[in-house]
Amino acid sequence: MNLVIFGPPGAGKGTQSAKLVKEFNLFQLSTGDLLRDEVSKKNEFGNKIDEILKSGELVSDEIINNLIENKISNPQYKNQIIFDGFPRNLEQAKSLDNLLKKYNQEISLVINLKVDNRILVKRITCRVTCSLCSKTFNTFFDPPKTCELKGCEQRKLNKRSDDNETTIVKRLKTYDEKTFPVLDYYQKKGIMKNIDGMQEISAISEQLFTLIQGIRS
Ligand code: AMP
Repeated sequence: MNLVIFGPPGAGKGTQSAKLVKEFNLFQLSTGDLLRDEVSKKNEFGNKIDEILKSGELVSDEIINNLIENKISNPQYKNQIIFDGFPRNLEQAKSLDNLLKKYNQEISLVINLKVDNRILVKRITCRVTCSLCSKTFNTFFDPPKTCELKGCEQRKLNKRSDDNETTIVKRLKTYDEKTFPVLDYYQKKGIMKNIDGMQEISAISEQLFTLIQGIRS
């Protein structure tokens, strides 16, 4: 069972994916995380990616498709992937279908987390991540709790460089123009379900679990 978790920046895709990984033994494939790994290498390629991330635009389909094929082709992840932050335009959605076909797989469900824009901005600007356990918190809605790994003394709460108000406006515009139309593509295939992403985190997870149990049985 491969899933796509869909929604605008700040919808809670990462938070919910982490819960699904634990509950259903899945592998989270976040293209944003893969790109940030490249940025952290601080080489020429990483610096080029960093510029694009800070601009709020999309990285080229060619770069993304290469990153994705590396994972889809790995037998360890076969039929156990949650695609988080991908596909982000129609071309990527079509490439994903082709890639999955090539490796004898398919998407079972696309979950769309629906959240109003005014809430998204607040969620993104207040987002911080624990440097030790990588858990994401929100200083406004979900204040950081003790780090489950080592307590709080040794950790830093990191903020993403593209989680600032200027870049967010651009990221939301990019979402509306390029990513939102992908929903229609999946709706026509009959595999898309909406979930209200403005509920409590645990209420959203419960609905997600029920949906997934439904397609597994
Ligand atoms: P995210 O962590 O999903 O919010 O992604 C952060 C940034 O990485 C986005 O604003 C884009 O610049 C870039 N990015 C992530 N996923 C993709 C993708 N599938 N296609 C193109 N660019 C992406």
